[in-house]
Amino acid sequence: MQRLWAETALLPSGWASNVRVDIAVSGRIEDVQVGADPCGMQVPMLLPAPVNVHSHGFQRAMAGLTEHRGPDAKDSFWTWRHLMFRFMDRLTPDHIQAITAMVQMEMLEAGYATNVEFHYVHHQPGGVPYDNIAELSERVAAAADQTGIGLCLLPVHYEFGGCDQRDLTAGQIRFGNSMTQFMDLHQATTKAIAELPADTGIGVAPHSLRAVGPSDLAQYASLFPTGPIHMHLAEQQAEVDEVKHHWGQRPVAWALDNLDIDARWCLIHCTQMTPDETRALASSGAVAGLCPITESSLGDGIFDGVSWLGHGGAMAIGSDSNIRISLCEELRQLDYSQRLRDGTRAALATSQHSTARRLFSAMLQGGAQAAARQTGRIETGYWADLMTLNTQSHHLWTLTGDKALDAWVFAGDDRLVKDVWSAGRHMVSDGRHVARSAIITAYKHTLEALKDAL
Ligand code: ZN
Repeated sequence: MQRLWAETALLPSGWASNVRVDIAVSGRIEDVQVGADPCGMQVPMLLPAPVNVHSHGFQRAMAGLTEHRGPDAKDSFWTWRHLMFRFMDRLTPDHIQAITAMVQMEMLEAGYATNVEFHYVHHQPGGVPYDNIAELSERVAAAADQTGIGLCLLPVHYEFGGCDQRDLTAGQIRFGNSMTQFMDLHQATTKAIAELPADTGIGVAPHSLRAVGPSDLAQYASLFPTGPIHMHLAEQQAEVDEVKHHWGQRPVAWALDNLDIDARWCLIHCTQMTPDETRALASSGAVAGLCPITESSLGDGIFDGVSWLGHGGAMAIGSDSNIRISLCEELRQLDYSQRLRDGTRAALATSQHSTARRLFSAMLQGGAQAAARQTGRIETGYWADLMTLNTQSHHLWTLTGDKALDAWVFAGDDRLVKDVWSAGRHMVSDGRHVARSAIITAYKHTLEALKDAL
């Protein structure tokens, strides 16, 4: 058993002082006592550590390779996607494992306890499946075994190259599976994660309305009766136009009319919604999986957080392309995008809670829902997904409670994250992952092998 004692901690009831937290060997919180005498490992400020709700690990190694202008008149999400396909075609299973481990380590060091991996590279270059259809799922699982992050693995179903159900392009054939093949893959992936700790989870992810046919999409909730369902939705204007052209409705309107969208669903991005769609989707109970840094990097558009939260929508944060993995920067970028659009300040704050407090609380709750993980609360029975902030940093001097959270999000950076536990596994100590040097060495070798890929 581990015993922590925090000068201050964010509990479900709010900030509390002198908090003792006992963590059972199972990785769950066994007891929480307020007003306790100092004991065990003493930490200054203890918070629940959130879920990172959306990631494509391998894209981390593309950072810095896509910022030049291509031959097209205008660089865009679609030209970037072309480069991503080319890059991905060079990746071996060893590369994918090493890059994923790096991503998971950076997530932990940023304060995330869980990686929801939207995993869509399944086959060999050329599209032939590996002898073990779940070879690359096993590599993601092996990375999680090394890094100690909580894993929720989402094998991705990707069948078509567009809404007209055209064949996949050469760049996409490593992703491709029919519905039947995908069911086999899902079963093999379930076996691949069986050796991981008990907090590991699995869900499913139809990639998007472009990549899966409408009749298959309509069956998802019944074919997979348990676990989360994640899908990219309404990210780019060209995608909206394509769905409208072939299926007769905008993506969100079509999804609401044809899929059983409820609290099991997490829709990623939703940066292209009308006000009516925002209101209706928020009311469905689904989580909006937002990735503000990647959405900025790819020019996706601005999610309407003011209206979404105003209608009681659930939200969570992911790092998607992983060009930059930073929990506090994602929250900052989300609020700044609203301010720039609306000419306001503290756009997502309320009269009760400051900006960072409201966003942090929302992402704890939405992340837990989207990962189907009992997390996000320092409470008996929950997984011990915890983080500490370094209150000795000059960024936090004289500040407590919500003001300290605001200073971390708007003035600080990841260096304020001191310790992180995932289901009781103490993986980050004094700001550094416990296996940092081995993970960095493998990542360096991978980058050397890929340096001429683009
Ligand atoms: Zn994505």
